Order: sequence, then C-alpha cells, then structure tokens
Amino acid sequence: MFTERYRNLSPYVPGEQPGEKKYIKLNTNENPYPPSPEVEKFLKAADPARLRLYPDPAMTNLRRSLSKETGVKPESIFLGNGSDEVLSFCFYAFFESSRGPLLFPEHTYSFYPVYCSYYSIDYEKVPLRDDFSICLTDYPKRESFTGIIFANPNAPTGMYKTIPEIEELMNSVPEDRVVIVDEAYIDFGGESVVPLTERYGNLLVVRTFSKSRSLAGARIGFAVGNPVLINALYAVKDSFNSYPLDYISQEIARVSLEDTEYFRKTVSRIMKTRSSVTKTLEETGWQVLPSKANFIFARKEGVSGEEVYSYLKERGVLVRYFPHRGIEDFVRITIGRDDEMMTLLKLLENF
Ligand SMILES: *Cc1c(COP(=O)(O)O)cnc(C)c1O
Repeated sequence: MFTERYRNLSPYVPGEQPGEKKYIKLNTNENPYPPSPEVEKFLKAADPARLRLYPDPAMTNLRRSLSKETGVKPESIFLGNGSDEVLSFCFYAFFESSRGPLLFPEHTYSFYPVYCSYYSIDYEKVPLRDDFSICLTDYPKRESFTGIIFANPNAPTGMYKTIPEIEELMNSVPEDRVVIVDEAYIDFGGESVVPLTERYGNLLVVRTFSKSRSLAGARIGFAVGNPVLINALYAVKDSFNSYPLDYISQEIARVSLEDTEYFRKTVSRIMKTRSSVTKTLEETGWQVLPSKANFIFARKEGVSGEEVYSYLKERGVLVRYFPHRGIEDFVRITIGRDDEMMTLLKLLENF
C-alpha cells in the first residue's frame, strides 16, 4: 500500500505540548509574553467576511513592511508558513547529493537531518569545538559539499557566531554553493547577516516570527537573499501550494512588525531575565553556555539531562534534554517570565 519513500520517512519529534496538566512550559522556546497589542486590536476588529476571499498571493503589504524592517528590497524576501516550511523549500531547491553532502554542525536544529531524509540528501555533521561553539573554518576544508546550513545563534547551545566570522566563511565557499544561516533566535542579542546577502548571492538568511514576535501559533517565517534564490523558493512553493500565508497571518505579521517599541521591550526583558538566571545558576554550581537566544543550555556535574528533566517535570516545570552523545548532561531551558524562572530556580536549589 505504501510507497518506499513514505516507508523511509523519519519525522521530526517536536518538544512535548502538555495536555490537561498545567506546566510551566520552558521546553519549546516559545515567548512568554503575548504578541503586540496591535495584534489583538486587529483580531478584534477583523471582518470574518474577508475570509471568503483568497489572500494576496504576492503578500505585497507584508513584504513592504518586512522590507522596511530588514533594509532589503521586497524582491529579496520570501515568506512561508513558519520557517520550517521555508527551510523545507530551501532543501528542495538548493541541495543534492551528486555535488557532495550537506554540511551542518554535529549539534544543531534536529530538523535538518529530517529534511535530508525527506529529499534524499546526504549530509555530514561537522564536530563542534570543545567549548560547544561552531567551528566555521572547518567547513570549507571539506573536499566537496552541496551546501552549508547552521543556526545562529545555534540550537540547542545558544552560542553565537559574529558577522566577520560568517563573512570569512562566505569568502571561502564557492559561489555555486548555498549557505543558509537560520536566524530563528537572532533578535535576542545577536546581529543579523541580512546585510551580507547584498554582497553574497549564495547567502540565504531564514528568520521567524515564532520566537521574538510571540507568534508561534500563526506560523510565519521568511527568507532574505538574492532575488535569484528567492525566485527559486517561490517556484518551489508554487509547485506545491500556490497560495501564500493566510490572510490573518499576513495582517498580524504586518501590524506586529510596525510595533517596534513593544518588540524591543519584550526582547530586552527576556535578555535581562536570561542574564539574571544565568548568574544565579552559575553561583550554584551550574555550567551555563554563553547564550544569545531565548533559552540557556546548562549542566551540573554528576547528573544527566534526563534526571534534571524528570525531577522538574514531576514538580510541574517542563524543560528539554537531548539524549545525544556529548550533550546528554545538558538541559535546555527556555527563558520565561521572571516569576516562572523564580519557581525553576527554587526547585533547582533543592535538587
Ligand atoms: C523554532 C525554530 C525554527 C522553526 O520556527 P517556525 O518558524 O516556528 O517554523 C527554525 N529553526 C530553529 C533553529 C528553531 O529553533
């Protein structure tokens, strides 16, 4: 009954979403604050009759707002249903095994190998340095590769590569090999490489409204790059589902972008909480990797990530651990509100 390609699938396993029981959810890097009040205003005033019509296929207004926000032309912007969908289109358009494996860090977003299996793309995991940072100079040393992808800041470590380091990488990668920088967490203290896309025609930056804009439930992701790459993504999308983001998502993305003040306020609140939680954990014997994301990656000598996870789960707090060799003693903790983090810290104090 089933095709061979179906039988070979190995789907991504997302962080758990609890049912009935009330947890403090620090496991899937959602934003603890609601989206901009402008989103609520839009939803309350929205006319349901508008849903009778198809959404604007060119996403003109939203691309114009994003263009203002990112400083690139609307033609340099692709939008999809969450950055996961954008990434999937990228893998389809840019990577194939006949030109070598796709390179990505040994520990990074675990969706990358899933897309590889979906599209039958070989991949090679490049080890992290001993301090868990990505060693970008290792990548172009590989004899052949079809492309490179990494998250910056990386997940689940939270560690960040600077613009000059990425520029150096771009200078040593052949022009016909696409490099994707997944900037899902860039707004929490990193600096985006979007401006480099004007100089490097093979650099594509993927971003999302899920984390820093508190819109994970609306599924809004986008890519920025040379229009040649962007047109390829639209061609892939239009071969699959020619309609774009739904009407409501286009509108709430737009109004959320325009509320710069609220965005800055919530992001800086999260960064402030991150630094105080890091400090407290370090004072109580935890090692915390330097994070520029809305989560931290931490471990305590002598206990596994799974033990910390289970202890916290029994007490109503969800975090995430990864049973992968080299990082199995860490837990990844999303930065929540201050009161939620107080509860977490109290529990860990008695651990
Ligand atoms: C959360 C996340 C995504 C997916 O974001 P969506 O836009 O919600 O699909 C992509 N990449 C990384 C590294 C992430 O952590």
